[in-house]
Amino acid sequence: MDHPSLYERLERHRYERLERRVLSENLMKQYSYPRPHPHVKGQALISNARKKYSQIPSNGTKVCRRCRAAYSVNGNGKAVKPEVCNYHPNNTPNPGKPYRCCGGGYTAKPCKTALQHVSDDFDLSNMTGFLLTKENMSVTGREAYALDAEMIYTECGLEIACLSIVNTKCEVVYETMILPDNPILDYNTEFSKLTSSDFAGVTTTLKDVHKKLLTLWGPNTILIGHGLESDLIKLRVIHDKVVDTLVLYPHKRGLPFLNSLQYLKDNYLSSSTFAGTSKKCGQDAIAVMKLAKRIS
Ligand SMILES: [Zn+2]
Ligand SMILES: [Zn+2]
Repeated sequence: MDHPSLYERLERHRYERLERRVLSENLMKQYSYPRPHPHVKGQALISNARKKYSQIPSNGTKVCRRCRAAYSVNGNGKAVKPEVCNYHPNNTPNPGKPYRCCGGGYTAKPCKTALQHVSDDFDLSNMTGFLLTKENMSVTGREAYALDAEMIYTECGLEIACLSIVNTKCEVVYETMILPDNPILDYNTEFSKLTSSDFAGVTTTLKDVHKKLLTLWGPNTILIGHGLESDLIKLRVIHDKVVDTLVLYPHKRGLPFLNSLQYLKDNYLSSSTFAGTSKKCGQDAIAVMKLAKRIS
């Protein structure tokens, strides 16, 4: 039998150290990770979700995620009519501190205007179509990947629009734009860095992405992300071995405070180069891998 090379031995140690950081079932539930429904295949259960995500309301109104205005919706959660949304992109300043978007004070008039209110509400009773990676016996290797996704607003809430996956060498192994299921309302450009031109010629759907993921992720794969539960929910994937940099780097004031990825990048990573990708989600996936390797 062949002896493993030095590189293979180092990679095995890396995997074992990351494996010690994998979230327990209880922590996954606490952080609202999608977990398998005990009886219904492909359906996810999300604990603690009411705290984190608002649901499709029964009274026909939603509250805009950006400007907090209430607006009327039909039974599918779509706005009954378009209404202009005036907002600050960075809308949660500490009282007394200026908005980061425009430098205006706490009572400053909104600095941005969009044609439509938006929401990130989703129907918790409709968590179907999830890929169960632990059943994918075609991938059995002990690999670790970091991932990041970008979301945009569609008529039915926030949908995944871009996905990047990197290996432990911080090489991009898969990066794709994803055509949302519903008509696009707003590219969420301040956060996603995506614009309409990014979608020119894009035909890849979430179904296509699932096919690709089945060639990469299996029961032994470790997935690393920052607030990875929300990426997995939007990606419609149930995965058991996850490492979350939100948990690896807790906020100094404890929960419910959480460190942003930007804060961790500024404080723990040198002004790194992000070779192999120009996409924000690719750069964030590389940052997440570096942050995980730094303390694992
Ligand atoms: Zn502003
Ligand atoms: Zn609004």
